[in-house]
Amino acid sequence: MNDNLSSQKQDRRSFIKKTGKGIVLGSLGAVFPYAKVSNIHGVEEKKLGVALVGLGYYATHKLAVGLEETEYCEVKGIVTGTPSKIPEWKEKYNIADKNVYNYQNFENIADNPDIDIVYVVLPNAMHAEYVVKAAQAGKHVMCEKPFDINASRAATAVEACEKAGRLLQIGYRCQYDPNHKELMRIGREGDLGNIKEIRSSHSFFGVRGDNWRYTDRSLAGGGPLMDVGVYSINAARYSTGEEPTAVWARTYNTYPNLMDGMEETIVFTMEFPSGAVANMTSSYVARANFIHISAEKGNYGLEPAFGYGGASGYKGEEKIDYPKRNQQAAQMDAFARNILDGTPVVASGEEGLRDMYVIDALYKSARKNGKRIKMVGA
Ligand code: NAD
Repeated sequence: MNDNLSSQKQDRRSFIKKTGKGIVLGSLGAVFPYAKVSNIHGVEEKKLGVALVGLGYYATHKLAVGLEETEYCEVKGIVTGTPSKIPEWKEKYNIADKNVYNYQNFENIADNPDIDIVYVVLPNAMHAEYVVKAAQAGKHVMCEKPFDINASRAATAVEACEKAGRLLQIGYRCQYDPNHKELMRIGREGDLGNIKEIRSSHSFFGVRGDNWRYTDRSLAGGGPLMDVGVYSINAARYSTGEEPTAVWARTYNTYPNLMDGMEETIVFTMEFPSGAVANMTSSYVARANFIHISAEKGNYGLEPAFGYGGASGYKGEEKIDYPKRNQQAAQMDAFARNILDGTPVVASGEEGLRDMYVIDALYKSARKNGKRIKMVGA
């Protein structure tokens, strides 16, 4: 992960050197190629312009709203295949005609200085393709989770961003939530000793919906594991700070004519090098939203863990309940600071790719009726 980040950082530095537009920021020596709003160094910054690609539920009701709460970003552009959505977006976010694109002319965004970040909010199987296009257009890229529908496609997108010298962040909003950060801290600093067991589920009762998630395997790549189970995988990895060495999974379907070729429920296990084991479920026919961790000296966890309302939980008898901040705003401001200061991205492309390796292995195990699959390199 660090190699990837440092190469992204170096590429960015060489880009700035080439353009000669950088302004040196104080003692950090960071370089800032944008201009407008004053920052603490007295340098004029502007907010970074974000173009949302795909104006569905999440872009409309969560990201655009969250972006309004950011310090360093603003919605400046849209990319949509549905012209009827354009007038409302233009009016609500004051978007100029020249910043409205469709999927046919999207590449022209390369010539648009208003857009610094392209945010891909399309169905899963379109993510890597649009990350690559955005990076090749010279933009920094936000990509929704899951990164794509398999690791090889995700790896292509990571490479494209590295090659273009552009930063890439995956929309793992929980990694920017103060209560998840506390969960990470407790695990990493060993407040309660070594982690022994993790239980997590992110599930909801939604199998009867007609969205591509439930109806189109070619776009979704799989069932709840792709959609919401990925949060539990990610949380098990950031709680332990370890990569799994082996996994296994079983899948279940109870509505025979729905979820064609995709699981309705998945039950899975991840084994970590320290001996910690994670037992997880994800389902479209259950209701659950938690992570519970057993360590040598006590238990801690979050419930609710992954919802839009933010997380809260416990550490033994104590509460974990830092004040909540809009997670979408927090992730975007963090990404903007990474771009502005040349600092490493937390939920990087590599981070998303590692989850895709786990997902590939879990589906492989499920196809083999729960066979234990050793992770490559473990
Ligand atoms: P959605 O179906 O509401 O929106 C998808 C958008 O893509 C629509 O505007 C649709 O018109 C557009 N689109 C373009 N080409 C399409 C095609 N060929 N087929 C279908 N739609 C097409 O979905 P959503 O809930 O907004 O999810 C979008 C992405 O965001 C998914 O990858 C999802 O996993 C992710 N997401 C993340 C979170 C989070 O909390 N981080 C929450 C919800 C969704």
